[in-house]
Amino acid sequence: MLSIIVPCYNEEESVPLFLAEVEKIRQEISHKIEYIFVNDGSRDNTLAVLRQAHKQYPESVRYLSFSRNFGKEAALYAGLQAATGDLVTVMDADLQDPPELLPEMIRLIEKEDYDCIGTRRTDRSGEPKIRSFFAKTFYKLINKIADTEMVDGARDFRLMTRQMVDAILELTEYNRFSKGIFSWVGFKTKYLAYENRERVAGETSWSFWSLFKYSIDGIVNFSEAPLNIASFVGALSCVGSIIAMIFIIIRALVFGDPTTGWPSMVCIMLFVGGLQLLCLGIIGKYIGKIFLETKKRPVYIVKETEKDR
Ligand code: UDP
Ligand code: MG
Repeated sequence: MLSIIVPCYNEEESVPLFLAEVEKIRQEISHKIEYIFVNDGSRDNTLAVLRQAHKQYPESVRYLSFSRNFGKEAALYAGLQAATGDLVTVMDADLQDPPELLPEMIRLIEKEDYDCIGTRRTDRSGEPKIRSFFAKTFYKLINKIADTEMVDGARDFRLMTRQMVDAILELTEYNRFSKGIFSWVGFKTKYLAYENRERVAGETSWSFWSLFKYSIDGIVNFSEAPLNIASFVGALSCVGSIIAMIFIIIRALVFGDPTTGWPSMVCIMLFVGGLQLLCLGIIGKYIGKIFLETKKRPVYIVKETEKDR
């Protein structure tokens, strides 16, 4: 059995198109298919559309509906927990992940002994230049400072074996950064490249700001580098101030002590004060994550599934 997990946030128009596209290639896949749509607190009629889809395909369409919007990461996790297939794939509802690739992915995983077939886009057409620039910078940065490798352009669209899914489910952390988690669990992965596609309907739920916050989350979840940099800069400024102190004492002893240097003093005080706040901020970011983690709140809350119908 193949489980297809589809996180949906305001996708009332995309879901029927998505189902139609996948049903088209169904003959090419010898596996039984199980869809798991996760309605992530959509504000539109996605839930009604999903109920309808379950009516249409009672055997294969399952759905979970959250009590509010918990984010795509939570939706993925819920889907992985619910999936029962031996092969599991994760796909966006907007058809940016081409279903035509599925037969080839299944072939690779079954014949060539891979545990996971991922996908990456070769280009970022249809995306603002500035966003591509920041995305590239982010991948360069995170690959330098984190031990976990993150492939530039890799999408969440991937096919995994049951063994790998079980490994992912063992990571029960609250702050979930899937790109990192997929890579952290290891296993033999091959990436298929394809050209970027525009979404079929609806609009993206990511603003520049939300992507920025998401990238900070990625860094904090998978790297301690910011903490190390903060300590390093702190140590550097400490050494610098000791040298300056020695210089000033000797100068005062040799040349006397005319009271000048007030502006430079204020500058130094502001600089050091700012540095301290910055470092506190970095530490605070990690403490915030620990705080959320220790509360052990559930990652998502389900309000309705197809079994309730
Ligand atoms: N999504 C979700 N919860 C959210 C935001 C997005 O489940 O809070 C889903 C969305 O319905 C889509 C997928 O995640 O199936 C990718 O979202 P989107 O297409 O907006 O992102 P993009 O492709 O622009 O990166
Ligand atoms: Mg999309």
